[in-house]
Amino acid sequence: MKITEIRDETVSIRSDISNAFISFSEMTVSAVAVISDVVRNGKPVCGFGFHSNGRYGQQGILRERMIPRLLQADPEKLLTEDETNVDPFKAWNIMMRNEKPGGHGERSVAVGTIDMALWDLAAKIEDKPLAHLLAERYNDGVLDDEVYVYAAGGYYYPGKEIVGLTEEMKRYLDAGYNTVKMKIGGTSLARDIERIESVLKLVEKGEDLAVDANGRFSLDTALEYAEALNSYGLKWYEEPGDPLDFEVNKRVQEVSETPIATGENLFSMQDARNLIRYGGMDPKQDYLQFDPALSYGFVEFYRTLEMIKQYGWSPRRIIPHGGHQFALHLAAGMGLGGNESYPGVFEPFGGFSDTIPVEDGRVRLSDAPGIGIEEKQSLMPVYEQMISSLIEN
Ligand code: MG
Repeated sequence: MKITEIRDETVSIRSDISNAFISFSEMTVSAVAVISDVVRNGKPVCGFGFHSNGRYGQQGILRERMIPRLLQADPEKLLTEDETNVDPFKAWNIMMRNEKPGGHGERSVAVGTIDMALWDLAAKIEDKPLAHLLAERYNDGVLDDEVYVYAAGGYYYPGKEIVGLTEEMKRYLDAGYNTVKMKIGGTSLARDIERIESVLKLVEKGEDLAVDANGRFSLDTALEYAEALNSYGLKWYEEPGDPLDFEVNKRVQEVSETPIATGENLFSMQDARNLIRYGGMDPKQDYLQFDPALSYGFVEFYRTLEMIKQYGWSPRRIIPHGGHQFALHLAAGMGLGGNESYPGVFEPFGGFSDTIPVEDGRVRLSDAPGIGIEEKQSLMPVYEQMISSLIEN
């Protein structure tokens, strides 16, 4: 087999939501299709990828560096030993040729987008869901049948704060989620406490509610919130301070009885390792949220997994950011602790298979080969359009 072409498209996922730091009014995402010369049912087998949410489309880096490097390499250099499938580890090394270490910037997002498509393709060539392929190759065949998911949202509703928030949270609970997450830091502490208490009336216990400050707080504010949250027994307190300020994270962790969750804005194994080394995170109670699509894909995520194990962390402490099917397959195939979900937001890229509902806070994976983009009716047209010229000919 060989890769014949790689196409990309920038797609808008603008929405009216805001967190404590940014508005999503201009948000875009890169979608990538990796096309192979393997033909099944009259169509080329293609791998599809995109890059989660929260970072903008990566067309410049994709078109100027990553895609040309892959297409200019000898085709067999991207393949497994027996040349029957793509080898995303080899492809990764080719994409990262002539890239200096450190300063990861957003090339990690561009590489992660292609990496997702390569794994989707690899699993499709083997005709199995990606979770099965990952479990067989990298997790001694151990596969979770279902994955813990929580509903992330809990936005601000100017003018109808409490009503808007509780209605949103009720929708998630009615949809089968047990754990919900809400934004904090977009108003005063007193007002946020009121919002938190209104949601706590809806969920069964404190542990069913997590809060997310999106890296907004100064040290003093982060500590003030930590003290105020201590009595509620919440699931976690997410990104209290700047995601790269490990000292702030450590100081907050020391006073917080609520577990700390962070990592969605760390895009490399080295950044993740600095968090583990210097961020004061406790492997017995805290959570790691690295998003594989934003941080160089599964190839780097695998290195991160190996790293955290060396520091005494279980993969179960990782619950990735992003709410996408790629991370869902990694969670099931690599024994992670769960996956984020954004019901109804970041469509059509967010969410899982159309046919599999969330039940009792967990979701099963479909049997579709790859990561299951074909299982989302709203998402497939993005890719069908990208490859339409191939199918018609
Ligand atoms: Mg977050």
